[in-house]
Amino acid sequence: MLNVSENTVISTRLKNVSAQFNVFSTYISKSGQVEGSDTDFAAFAEEVAGLYMTRIQVIDRDFNIITDTYNINKGKLCISQDVNQCFNGTNLSYVDKGHQCIILVQAVKDDAGTVQYVMFATSSISDIFQAMSSIHLIGLAIMIILSIIVLFFAIFWSGRLVKPFGRINEVIARIDQGHMTEDIKLEGCTEVETISNSFNLMLGKINQLEQSRQEFVSNVSHELKTPLTSMKVLSDSLLMSEDTPAEMYREFMSDLSSEIDRENAIITDLLTLVRLDSDSTELNVSHVNVNELISQTLKMVKPLAEKKNIDILFESFRPIEADVDQIKFSMAISNLVENAVKYNNNEGWVHVTLNADHNYFYVKIQDNGFGIPKESQDRVFDRFYRVDKARSRETGGTGLGLAITRSIILAHNGDIRLYSEENVGTTFSIQIPLKHIAVKNI
Ligand code: ADP
Repeated sequence: MLNVSENTVISTRLKNVSAQFNVFSTYISKSGQVEGSDTDFAAFAEEVAGLYMTRIQVIDRDFNIITDTYNINKGKLCISQDVNQCFNGTNLSYVDKGHQCIILVQAVKDDAGTVQYVMFATSSISDIFQAMSSIHLIGLAIMIILSIIVLFFAIFWSGRLVKPFGRINEVIARIDQGHMTEDIKLEGCTEVETISNSFNLMLGKINQLEQSRQEFVSNVSHELKTPLTSMKVLSDSLLMSEDTPAEMYREFMSDLSSEIDRENAIITDLLTLVRLDSDSTELNVSHVNVNELISQTLKMVKPLAEKKNIDILFESFRPIEADVDQIKFSMAISNLVENAVKYNNNEGWVHVTLNADHNYFYVKIQDNGFGIPKESQDRVFDRFYRVDKARSRETGGTGLGLAITRSIILAHNGDIRLYSEENVGTTFSIQIPLKHIAVKNI
């Protein structure tokens, strides 16, 4: 910027000196006066020279200096390229930055147009250079002061901005030591508050997961212990009584066998659930005829339904083919239909319907059984949750069926919903995409 303004000031000075010089050259042409100390010419020359600290020399055709406003070179010869060029008809004007001056060389012609004299002027521009160097110094000082101020603010603000992250680090270190309930309360710019809110949210989720893990472990222990306790009681009773009648012996052994079956069922369901949890993306997906798959699954549940004289009706609206894991999908349907039979009255009914649109297929399992109370509807998909523990035990339930079913449906990128009314019936509604897209773990 300073260079640009320096050039602008110099070119303005050049224009002004040239204009003055033109007036002087016209005066010489008109008056014919080129020398004399007491003449109008001398007064004019002094005036022009004094205006911009200009030295004017007039040179005749013999290269003699006939006028010098500094009275130094008068009478001497001036043979320079510029003067020679000017006698040949080329006026010159340029800036000599090295000597800090403007040089003007101009021809004075007579009426016939012949160059009679050459006026050689050097006008000092050292005042401009001095002013510019002062401005340079002031600019430098302003820049240094501004840099110090900016540096000060940068250090101050970076300290303030980084401070909350130090607090986050502290909390992470405390969490690492096992203080999982630690919360971050940070105030500052929006980004910092957003990070602290997200961090607290994540922490809440981790705590929730930890709590459900603990609950799960305690439920598993309890569920596995129940059949073991019964087995222990039964075997101890047999051991203690000496002359046990064969009938009683058989009865106890049969009870023992059902407790072992129960323990086995719980372990099998638990293993299925754990595998589904860890390998949700590892479905063995193939393109299958869903109508056929459901028909086959229903055939397997039929003997159970016949025992209670329950009708299972399958209604399909169209032939449907979709990408599913045959074994797991069949397990999910079988769990739901078995439940519809187990938690139903004798002579009840179960309706299974199948439909589809362009993207999804829908399965509905409807029964007119006991129904699920409103307050339990949110919890029936939880592991080991049973509305009526005694009834579930009677029917050989483990309390894991719906948890397994839901995991299977979610692994298929699907959705499962429940509508139920006590003593009226229950409907489970499933929606699964026709084309499978693996659920990605982030
Ligand atoms: P369970 O092995 O006990 O059947 P589930 O996870 O399959 O476990 O079901 C959880 C509970 O939900 C059951 O104990 C039962 O109380 C209730 N339930 C499930 N399906 C039905 C249904 N169709 N009608 C009424 N209650 C149901």
